[in-house]
Amino acid sequence: MTNFYKEDPNLRRLIKERLPADFFEWADSELNQFGALCTGEIDKRAAHTDREGQPKLIRYDKMGNEVSQVWLNEGYKKTVEETYNTGIVGYVHKDIPALGHKGNYVYSYAQNYLLSHAEPGFDCPIALTMATAYLIDHYASESLREKFLPHVLATGDTELYEGATLLTERQGGSDVGANEVKAVKEEDHYQIYGEKYFASNAGACGVAMVLARLDGAPEGTKGLSLFLVPWEENRAEGLLRIRRLKDKLGVRAVPSAEIEFTGAKGYLVGEENQGFYYMIEALNLSRVSNAVSSLGIMRRAYLEARNYAMNREAFGNKLTHYPMVQETLSKLAAKQEIELNAVFEVVALMDRVMGVDTKVKASDKERILFRLYVAIMKVETAEQAIRFSHEAIEMHGGNGFIEDFVTPRLLRDAQVLTVWEGTENILALEVLRLIGKYHVEQIFAEEMKGRLSTVQAEQIGIDPSKITAWVKVIESELSHLIERVEAVRTLPKDTQTYYGKGISKQITDIFESIVALETFAKGDKRQQAISEVFLHDLWKRNEFQENPVPLEHFDTIVAGKQ
Ligand SMILES: Cc1cc2nc3c(=O)[nH]c(=O)nc-3n(C[C@H](O)[C@H](O)[C@H](O)COP(=O)(O)OP(=O)(O)OC[C@H]3O[C@@H](n4cnc5c(N)ncnc54)[C@H](O)[C@@H]3O)c2cc1C
Repeated sequence: MTNFYKEDPNLRRLIKERLPADFFEWADSELNQFGALCTGEIDKRAAHTDREGQPKLIRYDKMGNEVSQVWLNEGYKKTVEETYNTGIVGYVHKDIPALGHKGNYVYSYAQNYLLSHAEPGFDCPIALTMATAYLIDHYASESLREKFLPHVLATGDTELYEGATLLTERQGGSDVGANEVKAVKEEDHYQIYGEKYFASNAGACGVAMVLARLDGAPEGTKGLSLFLVPWEENRAEGLLRIRRLKDKLGVRAVPSAEIEFTGAKGYLVGEENQGFYYMIEALNLSRVSNAVSSLGIMRRAYLEARNYAMNREAFGNKLTHYPMVQETLSKLAAKQEIELNAVFEVVALMDRVMGVDTKVKASDKERILFRLYVAIMKVETAEQAIRFSHEAIEMHGGNGFIEDFVTPRLLRDAQVLTVWEGTENILALEVLRLIGKYHVEQIFAEEMKGRLSTVQAEQIGIDPSKITAWVKVIESELSHLIERVEAVRTLPKDTQTYYGKGISKQITDIFESIVALETFAKGDKRQQAISEVFLHDLWKRNEFQENPVPLEHFDTIVAGKQ
């Protein structure tokens, strides 16, 4: 492996399809350079950070004063600098000098995806900084924007302030409405008091976006306001304290801390008591980041498994000679590529929903579908990142379990992706909320039926039986989904939640199947093979065959023979 970007034609194709020609030409060259960096130096530094160079809390200075500083190793700091300088956060909000216009999330998430092949732990600070930039850009006063935004968007032109988003408290992360941290009004600012229990990027960030409750504010999420808390000045004045850094299973690059605010100076962002709603918008962004990171881990796990299998011999043959190995690799490749296609569709939609792509405004329907896609794809990709990492370990046999190989780190880093940014249960509740409020299942079904008709109408030079059979399967799944939701709707509210995960998974499978069919209809021979393997694996059709589909297409998909 020399360049994750060059060796991923599917990513390049997606970016090319979604960016205007001049933007693509520039992005292609940038991604090429960053791909090489991730495959080389960033990957090496990530291994060091994980094993020997984890962040450390410096609690006291040499005179015994409490300082709450965080030590980061030099290699990690270099990765931070090089990555922000690509404009991964900055160019969503400011012009790319070479092009004279802003970038977008499609470009930034392509960088993010490459980064997570090598250093998923650092994806978290990137996501936090993206969320911070969004919140300041959209909701902060003009004076706060002027003072802080250029630093959050820094690309080497000024001092960088990374971001942080502090919601979770000791009594609960999912139940944000139970938050207790207080904000007290002073003349031109607020003082923040209380504890935050999981504060990622603590000690590394320049600004933290903190949810806190004003005196007399309503209970629950309706009483939370958002504050911008400058880190360094509060730390230097002893107004915030890091109690400890968490000793974590994975993503060790990012310092995650327990924080105590003792009157830290903060500035209100937007209106009082609206903080939770602003944060939810930013959370959508972090959830998409989570999906993209998961896909990067999936791709790296697949590449590691494939390369090992191509070189390792057992019983006188390369592992890739064996049908069970071929099956695993074909199915992993198919799932990863279809899921990447699906997630980049969501990223492109996000550009419109978040107002980055101003050419076509997102409709109300699209905004609702966006929330649905974010919830389902966050869950599915996170689960798959764990499964792929497990499969990569399995393919390596004993070596896969040994820290000389990247495989254990992939599994450890993947494990958090199902937890932070909302667990599967919490996101199933979001899907039920969308069903209850907007009948999202109907909107989704209508949209998917339209896409199925287009696929059928547009197939040119393809054996129609190949597509028609799958269209029937998916149409029947859509009817089943609608019937199921109708039945669940009649149940008491609490019992409905029992079915939330099942419904979400069904929507995910239908959505990805349609992406697979579209990939088939407009794709080349390899993309068609990918789509077929994906659909066969998911719906388990024609299980007993002399030449099963994953084996039939192994050479085309995995061994690279067309
Ligand atoms: C490494 C790391 C870094 C983090 N960094 C940050 C950060 O920077 N900022 C931040 O704000 N937070 C951060 N978090 C916190 C993270 O967002 C929370 O851990 C997560 O939201 C879950 O909250 P919790 O841990 O309190 O679990 P809980 O909310 O206690 O949930 C425990 C379990 O109960 C389930 N559950 C809860 N409610 C329901 C329900 N109504 N129905 C069904 N099941 C339910 C959940 O799905 C979960 O499985 C971080 C967490 C980790 C692990």
